[in-house]
Amino acid sequence: MDNLIEGLKSEDFPARRLLGKIVDFFCIKDGQGNWINMFSFTDEPDLNKFAESVEMGKNNEELARLFPHLAWLLVEDEQTWATEDSKRYEEYFINENGEIKYYEIIKSPFFNPDGTRKILFIFLKDISNEKNIELSLKIKIKELEDLKFALDESSIVAITDRAGMITYVNDTFCKISKYSREELVGKTHRVINSGYHSKEFFQELWQTIQNGKVWRGNIRNRAKDGQYYWVKTTIVPFLDDNGKPYQYIAIRQDISSQMKYEEQLLYNSLHDELTGIPNRRSLRQNLTKWIAENNQKTMAILFLDIDRFRNINDTLGYQVGDEILKSIARRLKNHIQENGELYHFGGDQFIIIYKGCSEKEVENYIEKIMQLFKRPFTYNREAIFINVNIGVSFYPKDGNDLETIIKKADSAKIVSKERGRKSVNFYSDEIYEELKKKIYLETEIRKAIDEKQFTIFYQPQVDLTTGKIVGVEALIRWNHPIQGSISPSEFIYLAEANGLITPITEWMLEKVCMQARQWQENGYPSIRVGINISPVLLGEELLEMVEKALKMTNLPPNRLELEITESFMQEPDYAIYILKKIKSLGVRLSIDDFGTGYSSLSYLKQLPVDALKIDRSFVSELERDGVIVKTIINMASHFNLSVIAEGIETKEQIKILKELQCTEGQGYYFSRAVPHEEIPRLLQKNWNENE
Ligand code: C2E
Ligand code: MG
Ligand code: MG
Repeated sequence: MDNLIEGLKSEDFPARRLLGKIVDFFCIKDGQGNWINMFSFTDEPDLNKFAESVEMGKNNEELARLFPHLAWLLVEDEQTWATEDSKRYEEYFINENGEIKYYEIIKSPFFNPDGTRKILFIFLKDISNEKNIELSLKIKIKELEDLKFALDESSIVAITDRAGMITYVNDTFCKISKYSREELVGKTHRVINSGYHSKEFFQELWQTIQNGKVWRGNIRNRAKDGQYYWVKTTIVPFLDDNGKPYQYIAIRQDISSQMKYEEQLLYNSLHDELTGIPNRRSLRQNLTKWIAENNQKTMAILFLDIDRFRNINDTLGYQVGDEILKSIARRLKNHIQENGELYHFGGDQFIIIYKGCSEKEVENYIEKIMQLFKRPFTYNREAIFINVNIGVSFYPKDGNDLETIIKKADSAKIVSKERGRKSVNFYSDEIYEELKKKIYLETEIRKAIDEKQFTIFYQPQVDLTTGKIVGVEALIRWNHPIQGSISPSEFIYLAEANGLITPITEWMLEKVCMQARQWQENGYPSIRVGINISPVLLGEELLEMVEKALKMTNLPPNRLELEITESFMQEPDYAIYILKKIKSLGVRLSIDDFGTGYSSLSYLKQLPVDALKIDRSFVSELERDGVIVKTIINMASHFNLSVIAEGIETKEQIKILKELQCTEGQGYYFSRAVPHEEIPRLLQKNWNENE
């Protein structure tokens, strides 16, 4: 043994060279634990310094003090002695270069023949390299495990082989697809195909990943129970050494709720909130597309408008209005089903589209739609009858684009509305032009007031016995800068509809009273002035207007005559009430166009009127048949009313009227309506003198 130790000290000793190949350090301790030798075969600085100290004869205590981090070299010998066998273990320390050094330690005890401890061999082998590789591998594996865990927790994961066969699915995949792992592995993704995406969609997907590129997109899948779910998908191909994919990993996120929300948003934007029926935007989208794709085919557009729907809102309230609209929508929807398309155009307007059908067929459809409104709608057990007006236009006959055909169906509907309830109207160019003119005039009336396009003409009213003028009727004239002279019968009803009749009448009253006052001041014989009053105006407001005009001009009230029509008598109680009030101002009242409208004779007695104006239509009939005129005159005298015959055009008519004891007359025979400048001259005139 001693020889061996001595030999090891020599560099050339073969056993030393051999040992140097196997281990890095070789140490020898005696049976008492004292260091005998430490042979170093490497340049590990710390252990070499330790070895030097051993060489210098330092004892264990000193060594422990000098090399606290190498304490393991000093202790744990007892265990080895106790087992009487070689012991192997690993240790590590941080050397002066800051590197972690791992050492494999083998301790071998040798005993004397008497069993006492003889010598302890300690072999140290640097295993830092192996250890570091093992450690970094462990770290990598841990990292990968963590990643897989995170992926499994957060994503739906599947792996497929190069043919698209599923080789792995994680729990999340099974959970969302409701298939077990066994049902999926070995199959392709076709199992969960929802049929939503096109063939091209999947072709593009495969092309991308087969080319080794990552594919990203949203896919709608179908679970085992038939439910659909949306997944945001990333498919990553794994490439072999030749750059060819050998498997694919698909990572998906469940985006069903997000997609549902987006679908809901889209749905909402295309449907009416109240009725749930496709709205105007949807109509535009669908039909524009259809026209682009089917420009050879025909299509009928039915524009439906609920008659007087505003009345329902006004009288029953908006809540009831809403409920009725919903019922109407439901009834229409159930009826139309697959035959046509129903849209809620807005408010109380619906549009129905019939594609590729003839006019005759459309007429039948309309007939059936009209039938739907025969039954009343109910709200709170109350029956409410609803009428509908329909305007119809055809594509491409009435227009080549959507806007035009809708506009034309709408205008046809407006005309149908004017014709009355439950009316249907097919679009025609003439009616459209008429309507356009009407709308044009309506806007022009507004300008006419400001731009002073109105003037007043006066038509004389003659006392048939004296042949002298006793009054004039003021008649409005509209001199339009482009259209020329427009007859009041063309625009008064429009002004009545849009409310402009009020300022017009106000203006008339002031002008006419002023004119009458002027004539009076100029010393002309005192005559009455008549003004036509629209029935829509009869109310407190008119009272104020008349009062104001009289006050402003100082015209004696009995010089002013207000002509009202019989249509005003439709609400007799109110008519009597208001007319009495007006009458109390001291003005004259006459009933214009008498005989053409509705007026109950029983009320006539109660009305505070002064005169009846026999309508021109009866006067023109006089020579053939004078019965009606005679009756009116008799009745008037019975109620103590004076009578003016309108529209006298011939001498013969005057003769008959005189015989019937009609007191006054008006008509082209005497004079047409003329500007005020001509009245003084006519006042001089006596028509009886010409006889
Ligand atoms: P009206 O009140 O019955 O007026 C008489 C109309 O008959 C006038 O037409 C007049 O020019 C016309 N006329 C008079 N004599 C004859 C005749 O011998 N033969 C024929 N063929 N026609 C005759 P105009 O001026 O066109 O007025 C039409 C209607 O317009 C008036 O009928 C009246 O209802 C309304 N109107 C005119 N001016 C006003 C106004 O300032 N306010 C209101 N509310 N209505 C007015
Ligand atoms: Mg009149
Ligand atoms: Mg008249």
